[in-house]
Amino acid sequence: MPLFCKQCNSRRLPEHHEAEKQTMWLCKKCKNFADMDDVILREQTDKERDEVRRKQEEFEKTTPLSNEKRVRRKGVN
Ligand SMILES: [Zn+2]
Repeated sequence: MPLFCKQCNSRRLPEHHEAEKQTMWLCKKCKNFADMDDVILREQTDKERDEVRRKQEEFEKTTPLSNEKRVRRKGVN
């Protein structure tokens, strides 16, 4: 398993890609994908990077954070 990047030794994260019909391992440092045999397939595209960022922002918006509760309390008084 290509769990660690052979270029920078960072932890890779598996991502299933419908277009490629396989799970690819992303190194967030090198921004590239490797397959199950640890062969680097391609770099992460800007579009994919934006998509990851968008999902992250959405997650943060929909997940109540502890400091958000404090903000909401203002309306109580
Ligand atoms: Zn790497």
